[in-house]
Amino acid sequence: MNPTAPAASLPNASLRERLEWLMLFRVVVASLLLGSAVVANLDDPAGFSDPTYVAVAAIIIVTYLGTIGLALWLRRAAQLDLLVPVQILGDAFLATALVLMTGGIESIFTFLFFFTIFTGATLRGRQGALFTATIAALSYLVIFVIQFSSFGSVPTLFFADATASQQLPFDNVVVHVAAFYAVGFGAGYLAERIGQVGSELERRQLDIRQLRALNDNIVRSLSAGLVTLDLDGRVSFFNPAAAELTGITEEAARFQPLATLLPELATLLAEATRDATLPDGRIEGSLSHPSGDNRVIGLSVALLRDVRGLPNGYVLTFQDLTALKSMEVEVQRRDHLAAIGKLSAAIAHEIRNPLASISGCVELLAKRTPEGAEDRQLTDIVVREVDRLNGLVEEFLEYARPIQVSRRRFSLNELVAEVVQMATLDARVSEGVIIELMHHASGELVLDSDPQRIRQVLVNLVRNGCQAMERGGRLRVTTSRMAFGAGGSPYVAVQVDDTGPGLTEEVRQNLFEPFFTTKQSGTGLGLATSYRIVSELGGVLLADNAPGGGARFVLMMPLVSSSDLPVEVAPVASERVRGAVRAAAISTASHPVHASALPTRS
Ligand code: ADP
Repeated sequence: MNPTAPAASLPNASLRERLEWLMLFRVVVASLLLGSAVVANLDDPAGFSDPTYVAVAAIIIVTYLGTIGLALWLRRAAQLDLLVPVQILGDAFLATALVLMTGGIESIFTFLFFFTIFTGATLRGRQGALFTATIAALSYLVIFVIQFSSFGSVPTLFFADATASQQLPFDNVVVHVAAFYAVGFGAGYLAERIGQVGSELERRQLDIRQLRALNDNIVRSLSAGLVTLDLDGRVSFFNPAAAELTGITEEAARFQPLATLLPELATLLAEATRDATLPDGRIEGSLSHPSGDNRVIGLSVALLRDVRGLPNGYVLTFQDLTALKSMEVEVQRRDHLAAIGKLSAAIAHEIRNPLASISGCVELLAKRTPEGAEDRQLTDIVVREVDRLNGLVEEFLEYARPIQVSRRRFSLNELVAEVVQMATLDARVSEGVIIELMHHASGELVLDSDPQRIRQVLVNLVRNGCQAMERGGRLRVTTSRMAFGAGGSPYVAVQVDDTGPGLTEEVRQNLFEPFFTTKQSGTGLGLATSYRIVSELGGVLLADNAPGGGARFVLMMPLVSSSDLPVEVAPVASERVRGAVRAAAISTASHPVHASALPTRS
């Protein structure tokens, strides 16, 4: 039997607490004993000098002193295991001494052994109880031996009637020893059960704490705002996302009435609870933020119930739908445009055939009409207008149908030179305009792209620039190399600057939109188509005003990366371009972008 075995099955309290409680219990029992002995002697003051009384008083005083000593030890001791056997054996010793001096096995204080067993059970469970029951039985036997081996020869002070009986009271001993073990088993069992219940309670408490921590983590890490209200409409919980969305701190919100704290939310709550038809009690509304920006939120409301199922408040969850809403609007706009585009493409297609017939018929009519006749002038007008209409339809179909690209490697230097030359030679385009071509990059600029499409874009940029300079001017086409992106990929920028009136804010905002035109005979499809082509080919098209006046358009295309094609990196200029390009690249998915910072020559 090991009285210092770990008390795994003992009650919940710590060993220190249990030692303290037992000390208190011992002091109370000792005081009761002393008190009752004093009361018993009050009638007969001579009793105070009775040796039994003196012995009892001495043992009780020893008990007090021992308890004080133990208490001091307990305060200082870090390791309490040694205190356990000292306490158990000390109690057994005091009980034995008291019993020995108050009549031996006939003593009325034999019940004190039961307290000792209780101490053992409290400190070391079942093992402690059986251990102390054995100590009690042994002590009882020792008392018996002392008492009955000494009668006749060594008369003791206290065994008054030990000599009265010649019969040894074995039955008394057997009953007591049996009683000690019975109490030992009972107390051990009880201590063990209490220990099990205590451990179970501790485990449940731990589970509850863990569950609470989990719940807390979940609601705190929710990206949606979560607010709980009591039935009076006061805030009882406010998670960090709610604080972020409303701009009100958790501390400021706690216990405040929602109606004064967030009136908009309170109004939405009232609407949501009033309107039973709302799906999942969900409602949308706006919420103003102290920073000034209004947010669109989606609010869901649910009734909060207590453990008995009775309503005791509300749970409000709300999300910021601002970005989602603007995306929805954008998607609707795109769907709308796509639908119009499809319909218009179908109509345009149907217009082409009758136009061809009209054109054929009018040309026939023109042939039959003598040159210079008035009817001939009329047929010429019809032919011209039919041509214009045909051009418009062609251009529109070009914009509406999916862009087909066929890639190959080609030299951009040659292509740009060709476009510039053609524009210079075409008097309709370049009348009164000086066109310059400047290569700021040495060596060949090789692209892996669709040369026809790139030509189409460049022709459009050059033509637009020339058209913008109604009273003549200078159009400068510049090519330069640059590196941008995280990996510093090589790019080419073809910059088209004119000395025209430049771009007004309205034009700058809309020039890539289909059908936006400020020209009388314009279709507003040139730049919209160019933008689509460039995006499709992995490039970027930017527009802004040039620093010296006039408009500036920049086409940026990825260059073929090759070790025999040295890439010039102009750090300052390329940094500026990088910013502009990145900003554009982010937005190209949703909407054309007009860069505010355009590259200067590198
Ligand atoms: P269109 O040439 O048929 O009008 P575009 O899509 O090519 O269609 O051009 C759209 C509009 O952009 C033009 O009507 C014009 O207002 C503006 N724009 C294009 N290029 C320039 C430029 N170089 N200078 C000033 N405005 C321009």
